[in-house]
Parts: sequence; C-alpha cells; structure tokens
Amino acid sequence: MGRRRRKRARPRLVPKRKLPTVFQCPSCGATAVSVSVTKGKEKKAIVTCANCGLRGEYEYNPYLHPVDYFSKFLDDFEAGKLVTVEKPSSGEEDEEEVG
Ligand SMILES: [Zn+2]
Repeated sequence: MGRRRRKRARPRLVPKRKLPTVFQCPSCGATAVSVSVTKGKEKKAIVTCANCGLRGEYEYNPYLHPVDYFSKFLDDFEAGKLVTVEKPSSGEEDEEEVG
C-alpha cells in the first residue's frame, strides 16, 4: 500500500478561444455587429454595426457575454432606442473586444 499518488496539480491552461462576437444587425441585416468594451474607469460595452452604424451602449458587466449585450441591443432596437451613427468619432477611448 505504499503507492504514492501523484498529484496532478498542473492546471491546464486552456487556450483562449475567440468567441463569436459578430452578430447580425437588426437594422440592415448585415453580420457586422460587434461588441467592444471601453477601457477606463467606467467600463462600457459598446455594440455597433460596422455596416450601418447602429450603436448601443451598456454598462459593462464581467458576467455578461457579448451575446448578452447583443440581446440588449436587439431589445433596444425593438424599442426604438437606438441611434444610427454615421461615423464613429475618432480619438475616443480605446476599445477592446470582449471575450
Ligand atoms: Zn447594421
């Protein structure tokens, strides 16, 4: 009974997979809606369509996935809350993809 149990303590590093973060736009139908998070004190999740410029801003929540913001985005679109922005203003805070 003297077998030593080898403790497998090596945590396997799971390679970061890029989750799909591009969705179909409810306004123009293009699969060009992406979710990004602003860096800074107040993190915000920005959902934008690269095709038509439809845009929504949400409070960043680390427990939410891009798809969750996208569903909010859809809700807001249904509610008519979203505005289309022609061109994203340059020189804004850095944005990073969620995921
Ligand atoms: Zn669009």
